[in-house]
Amino acid sequence: MTAVISPVDATRTVGGIRAHAVRVLSAAHVPTPEVDAELLIAHVLGVSRGQVQAKALTDSPLDTEQAFAVIEAVERRAAREPLQHITGRAPFRRLELAVGPGVFVPRPETESVAQVAIDALAAVASPEPVAVDLGTGSGAIAISLAVEVPHARVVAVENSTAAFIWAKQNAAESGVENLRMVFADLAEALPELDGAVDVVVSNPPYIPVDAIPRDPEVRLFDPAAALYGGEDGLDVVRDVSRRALALLRPGGTLVLEHGELQGESIRDLLAADGWRAPATHRDLLGRDRTTVALR
Ligand code: GLN
Repeated sequence: MTAVISPVDATRTVGGIRAHAVRVLSAAHVPTPEVDAELLIAHVLGVSRGQVQAKALTDSPLDTEQAFAVIEAVERRAAREPLQHITGRAPFRRLELAVGPGVFVPRPETESVAQVAIDALAAVASPEPVAVDLGTGSGAIAISLAVEVPHARVVAVENSTAAFIWAKQNAAESGVENLRMVFADLAEALPELDGAVDVVVSNPPYIPVDAIPRDPEVRLFDPAAALYGGEDGLDVVRDVSRRALALLRPGGTLVLEHGELQGESIRDLLAADGWRAPATHRDLLGRDRTTVALR
């Protein structure tokens, strides 16, 4: 017979609240209920996930206020609000970005896109190479470039007011001084930098409008402007290609994120626009994710 833990018992120990949270999140079909339960408890208690696991194993007690804060956080997650909106933070490379309503939650696969851009920027033979991030969202890629290639100058462009505020906050928290944020439409941004940029990177919206994402966290909480790219998903990619051709110096590098089935169509599109040597790289799951081309 399995023991039934009543909600009252569940509030008394970390192990009890963990079991309650896992049950509620599993019933709501959250894909990783144990991970999410432990991260939500960690968030409420202000400790690491490892410490939550240790406390759960040692019958560590919980005060009532903390228990109710966990229950509330778990209810929100069970309604499929993104974990990162509840904790207010999204890890990305060396950063813990502030995120919430109005901004796209950075994805782990984008860390590999940023890596390609970082490598290209670090390889530029100039004392102060210049990079532009078109459609920066939370600022994830741009701030990573500024932090990880400290001798570079980075300019981030965003045209959503909500996202721009999150990106500004993230840039300020990171303390970087080599990053400038510009509120502009990426199709027309930064004419003053034409021909002067070494690396242009972008994670544009690229989902075809009729390919509605299955996960409610994406469908209901990520801004539509960060997800959908018109009929074939490539409308904004075409804008990025055009704008990047003007921004980059000859020999400069374009680094583009795209969907796992779009590598070939992106390479064709870029070759037709006059880019040299388009090549597609895979992410850590082995899926086509990043296409690089030379101006
Ligand atoms: N990668 C996004 C997703 O997972 C799609 C849009 C984007 O990243 N630009 O939903």
